Amino acid sequence: MPPEPKRFLFKNIALAAASGEVLEDRDILVENDRIVSISPSGGVAAPLAVQPARTARPPAPKTASTVGAATTSGGSSPTARLGNSTEVYDGRGKLALPGFYNLHSHVPMTLLRGYGEGLPLKTWLFERIFPFEALLTEEDCYWGSLLGIAEMLASGTVSFSDMYLLTPGIAKAVTESGIKANLSHGYSTAPKSKGFADSRAYEGTRFLMEAARTDTSGRLVPDAAVHAEYTFGDERFGREIAEFCRREGLRVQIHLSETKDEHETCKAKRGCTPTAFFDSCGLFEVPAIAAHGVWLEDRDLDIFAERGISLAHCPVSNLKLASGMAPIQKIIDRGIRVCLGTDGAASNNNLNLLKEANLASLLQKGLTGDPLALGPAQLLELASRNGALAQGRTDCGTLEEGMKADIIVFNLDSPRMRPDYDPLVSVFFAADSSDIVLTMVDGQILYKSGKFTTIDITRVLAEAERIQGEKLHRLEGKQ
Ligand SMILES: [Zn+2]
Repeated sequence: MPPEPKRFLFKNIALAAASGEVLEDRDILVENDRIVSISPSGGVAAPLAVQPARTARPPAPKTASTVGAATTSGGSSPTARLGNSTEVYDGRGKLALPGFYNLHSHVPMTLLRGYGEGLPLKTWLFERIFPFEALLTEEDCYWGSLLGIAEMLASGTVSFSDMYLLTPGIAKAVTESGIKANLSHGYSTAPKSKGFADSRAYEGTRFLMEAARTDTSGRLVPDAAVHAEYTFGDERFGREIAEFCRREGLRVQIHLSETKDEHETCKAKRGCTPTAFFDSCGLFEVPAIAAHGVWLEDRDLDIFAERGISLAHCPVSNLKLASGMAPIQKIIDRGIRVCLGTDGAASNNNLNLLKEANLASLLQKGLTGDPLALGPAQLLELASRNGALAQGRTDCGTLEEGMKADIIVFNLDSPRMRPDYDPLVSVFFAADSSDIVLTMVDGQILYKSGKFTTIDITRVLAEAERIQGEKLHRLEGKQ
C-alpha cells in the first residue's frame, strides 16, 4: 500500500491567478509536491471542494512535525476529512503567488558581494574578481551557494539558472537546500582554444548530468553554457557544443550583447552580431536562455523570435555596470519570451527578483513614455511562468490544479501594503522582500517567518565570513 500523501492546506488565502487576477478567499490543497485543488474557502462549517481521495484511508496519526494541524474531529469538517496529519496554514491577510524564477545568476559570487566596488570595469574584473575567483574551492562554492540560495528563498525565488565553475559545490547546495536549479559550467575557448570535449566545462557539464540522474527529484536540471562571444573562438567550437546539446537533450545558457563594446567589437571582428554569430554555429537550434541582450538589433530579434530564444533581463546589473537599458517592452511585443535575472551578487549586489521586477517596469515606463508598460500582470508572467518555461519546467510557474506546489506568500498586513486596492500592484510597486513570509518548493516549506528549514543560516554566515577573511589574507600576500 502506498504511503499516505503529505498534505498541506492554505486556508482563506488570496491568490494571483496566471491572468494576474487576484482571487480572494481560496483554499489551496497541496498533496506531496503538487497543487491538487483550489477552491473558494468553505469556512468552518461549509464543505471543502477537494478532489476525492484516490483511495479511502483512515486519517494518519498526528506527528510532531505537524504544524497548526486541524483539531476538529468527526465527519463534517473539511479539515477532518483531510485527516489530522494535514498541515493547515491560516491565509487570512496573506496573498499566494507562484514562486519566482531567477534566470541568470552566478550564485557562489555572493562571496564577492561588494568586493572591489567603484573601480572601472576592467580593473574590477582583472585585479579583483578574477584573482579572488582563482582561489575559490568547491567547498567555498558550496558555502557561497547556500548563502545565495538562502537569500533567494527569503525573497521568493523557487528556482534559478546558474552559470559558474566548480559546479559540484553548487549542486550539493541545491540538493541539500531543496530549491530548484538549472546549473551549468561556463565554457570559453580563450585563450587555449581547447575543444569542448577536452575542456573543464565538459567535465563540469558531465558531472551535472550525473548529479541530476542521481538526485531523481527533477529539481536539479543540467544545462550547457557558452560564456560569451568575446571569450569564444571560431564557429567549430559552437558547432561542437550545439551537437553535444542536441545529443544529450540539454538547453544552453549564454551571455549575449551585454555591452555596446562587446556587440560592436563582434561586428567589426566577425562581420555580424553576437546573436547572428552563434546562430550561424547552430547553437540556437537548441533551447537557449540568453542573458542581458541590452544591445540586440532588429535582425537579432528576428532570430530570437524564429528560434524561440528566451531572454533573461537583468536590469539592476545592466544599470550598475553602466551597460545600458534593454528595450524589453519592444522585445515582448515581438512575441519573444522574456524572464528576469539578477546576475551575480558582485554586480548587483543582491539576488532579489522582486527588485528586478520593480526596476524592469519603471525602466520600460520611462523608456517608452507609456505608464502602462510592463504592468503587474506582465511582471508576474516574466517572474514566474516565463522563467519556468525557459527552464523547460512546463508543470511549474502558475497556481493551478496539477501544477507543482511552488508557492510564495506575501503578508498583506504590513504598513507598505495598506490600503489594498490591487494586491498585485502592492507586490510589485510597494512590497519589500521582507513581506514574503513563506516559500514552498515542490510542496516542501523551505522558508517560513524568517526561518530556513533546510539551511543552518548561522553556520553559513560564519563560513562566508571565514572564506572572506582567508581569501583577503592570501590576496594581500600575508600568507
Ligand atoms: Zn552573468
